[in-house]
Amino acid sequence: MHQARTTCPYCGVGCGVVAELAGERIVGVSGDSEHPANYGRLCVKGSALHETLGHRGRLTRPRVDGVEVDWETALSAVAQRLAATRSEHGADAVAAYLSGQLLTEDYYVANKLFKGFLGTPHLDTNSRLCMASAVAAYKRSLGADAVPCSYEDLEEAELVVLVGSNLAWNHPVLYQRLKVAKTRNPLMRVVVIDPRVTDSCEIADLYLGLRPGSDARLFNGLLTWMADRGRLDRVYLEKHTHGLEEALAAAREEDDSVEAIAADCDLDPERLETFYYWFSSQLHVVTLYSQGINQSSSGTDKCNAIINCHLAGGKLGLPGAGPFSITGQPNAMGGREVGGLANQLAAHMDYHTPGARDRVTRFWATESLVPTLPEGPGHKAVELFESIERGEVRALWIMATNPAVSLPRANRVREALETCPLVIVSECMADTDLLDYADIVLPASSWSEKNGTVTNSERRISRQRGLLPPPGEAKHDWWIITQVARRLGYGEAFDYAHPAEIFDEHARLSGFENADSSKRLFDISGLAGLDRAAFDALLPIQWPVTAAAPRGTARLFEDGRFATPDGRARLIPVRPREPEQALSEARPLRLNTGRIRDQWHTMTRTARAPRLMNHRAEPFIEITPEDALALGVGDQQLARLRGAGGDYLGRVRLTKGQRRGEVFVPMHWSDRFSGSARMGSLLEAHLDPLSGQPESKHGAVALESL
Ligand code: SF4
Repeated sequence: MHQARTTCPYCGVGCGVVAELAGERIVGVSGDSEHPANYGRLCVKGSALHETLGHRGRLTRPRVDGVEVDWETALSAVAQRLAATRSEHGADAVAAYLSGQLLTEDYYVANKLFKGFLGTPHLDTNSRLCMASAVAAYKRSLGADAVPCSYEDLEEAELVVLVGSNLAWNHPVLYQRLKVAKTRNPLMRVVVIDPRVTDSCEIADLYLGLRPGSDARLFNGLLTWMADRGRLDRVYLEKHTHGLEEALAAAREEDDSVEAIAADCDLDPERLETFYYWFSSQLHVVTLYSQGINQSSSGTDKCNAIINCHLAGGKLGLPGAGPFSITGQPNAMGGREVGGLANQLAAHMDYHTPGARDRVTRFWATESLVPTLPEGPGHKAVELFESIERGEVRALWIMATNPAVSLPRANRVREALETCPLVIVSECMADTDLLDYADIVLPASSWSEKNGTVTNSERRISRQRGLLPPPGEAKHDWWIITQVARRLGYGEAFDYAHPAEIFDEHARLSGFENADSSKRLFDISGLAGLDRAAFDALLPIQWPVTAAAPRGTARLFEDGRFATPDGRARLIPVRPREPEQALSEARPLRLNTGRIRDQWHTMTRTARAPRLMNHRAEPFIEITPEDALALGVGDQQLARLRGAGGDYLGRVRLTKGQRRGEVFVPMHWSDRFSGSARMGSLLEAHLDPLSGQPESKHGAVALESL
């Protein structure tokens, strides 16, 4: 028996894991006491990791047109068909849809191949469903997609505001850390702002069960409340920001009395004012937000309404202070680092970043290629599948995700995939809904086999280590992508023998001609040049990592200089908007969706551990007893939700933690596990206009008893 360190593949907390190995088996896991994300803790999902392993149900051989083939045949087929599509229909007919489950090295080579060498801008990721609004808001306000805080800030805060986040279920180790910190510091207060009473309320000093979608109104109200009572940090605002007057003017376009805001948010005015008072009375405030804020057709505005309040109070760049978005996936951050969003080019550079296109062209030596690097952004997730419906994108490579379940209008996604002339799927499991639509299936390695890096929600890069050989003929994603690149004629640029070489190139690009790194915060050039042994031994570290900050950077913007051209942050005028999915007589119930404590994504891994299935064994619909009575359904009865694009069958769970007129369903179940409980089929595809993130928290449905 021996032990090896690695990182949990589930949520954005990014906990360090110590795996116990006996031969070619992991027989136990425990929390890594030296990893700064979790200091030895694991949640129930993480602690069951070893129970989800094994070769049963794994995809082990490549398939082309339904026939098992060897790798040479499969790789050649991918290269030939991608090349044929591009030469017949242009580079824009080729696209990739990636995943926050991929490692940074996988992401890097995929982005380089599709944008740099195939010349298509259409590469996006399921991280679009997770944190795209938070990214867009940080950029608008702070000048860069740069999360200012560290997990330690949660422990050092005097007030922690959880908004749109059930931390207790979705980021359990972070919740445990917060709970311990609150016990140690009796003066610390926690406020939970969420339409549902969740387990996170256990530590709440104040709970605000607001009307879904009214978050921006609530934070706009906080801004004007602070202004009216002399609680703005005028010195900080004067020195480090722009835009206060415009943001205040926008917030005052509606009645900004506490009573009016409380009425709009469906809150008790006294409780709302208590929150305003607490927020404005403390300097050390962290507002932690997640999908409840991001997954909205006005998600970017909601994030900016929060950031505005932090800037207005000077509550940023300090220990225990800042607006802190937490990602859902293990490597949503790593994907952003390499440019793995359709609006990014590479290394946190956007298409409009001055000199970026030229710099990346020279770094990748793609000057002589036709077509050259794309000139502008590509299709974001939902738009990508719409472009397939229109017959524009004709070849799609999907890696490590299942859009047939998770995207809104999931039934139309399936129809789009059916009509797409070429669908390539890289996947670990042999039986997923998506494989029904694949022309070429590529068996990929999984957690415990893959070797590379991930970045968690506090910008900390950690190693996921390859501890076991992949089953059968499964291969690592970076290997598959580079082998295809070689067969497309780009061998020299994709001549990697190990993920350490990819990481080195990624680190060098982050610092390439990046002398003024204050304008481009993502710089890990201090990690360039690691050989395999040094890469293998890499300890968790927070970016930026540069010659000036060789041990990483815990907190950003401490000097009050932001990544905008003039170094000042911007307060953004926010005009609150209602959800786009309107309630009607036909669909009168507001639908909320989310994760449950013990499952992950579409359950391909977590459903393998029986004890994880014990928590919630089947799809369900949470509803108040009063609504259930009115609709003629009882506890534990089967019922059907009817949404814009499909139905959802689940068992009714009565709860007093749900608001009247609203229902909640989990996001995890697919046809493979349930028959008919795909949350994505209930939702319309309304997007935030800035971030492209779908409005997954505000569906409109009807409920029928069965
Ligand atoms: Fe894994 Fe997240 Fe649980 Fe940590 S909190 S063990 S990263 S699922």
